[in-house]
Amino acid sequence: VSLEELDLNDVLQETSGFLTQEALHRKIELSLTLDANAPRIVSDRGQLQQVFLNILNNALAAVPDAGRIDVCTRGDGEGVCVEVRDNGCGMSKDTLTCIFEPFFTTKKTKGTGLGLSITYGIVKRLGGEISVESEVDKGTVFTLCFPKHPKHE
Ligand code: ADP
Ligand code: MG
Repeated sequence: VSLEELDLNDVLQETSGFLTQEALHRKIELSLTLDANAPRIVSDRGQLQQVFLNILNNALAAVPDAGRIDVCTRGDGEGVCVEVRDNGCGMSKDTLTCIFEPFFTTKKTKGTGLGLSITYGIVKRLGGEISVESEVDKGTVFTLCFPKHPKHE
């Protein structure tokens, strides 16, 4: 890890910028609601980009054309939480229990099943937490929280 003090809102703007073309093309609304008062955090910019690219790419794969993906941040004295909400296909209870396992995928092609296991490892190394709620045919919400400083063991 390569730690620096950074603004998580900036990272999210950069990362979602990589995906605006695809979103536009498929008429998917990709909205960011960023808490301007969120504290800066000490973290790894490159690893955070990888995390949010994984989460947002999964959301893009899950939503139909004209679907929506909402990213919002909320900061407090402890750190920053990011919610990534999509109105896509959602996941069954069985699927939900497996998603952080390496090589678990429900995608017929183009799925390595590595995105979320790598994401989980990165979030933990950065001292954060990741959780998910999902309902079939309704959508999915991933919540990721990062402390102002990663804890040292
Ligand atoms: P991959 O994207 O290669 O399949 P991931 O580890 O990124 O691997 O995701 C694992 C599985 O989790 C996906 O195949 C999919 O079944 C499920 N998943 C992840 N994110 C979402 C989402 N936003 N909506 C529905 N299913 C999801
Ligand atoms: Mg993936």
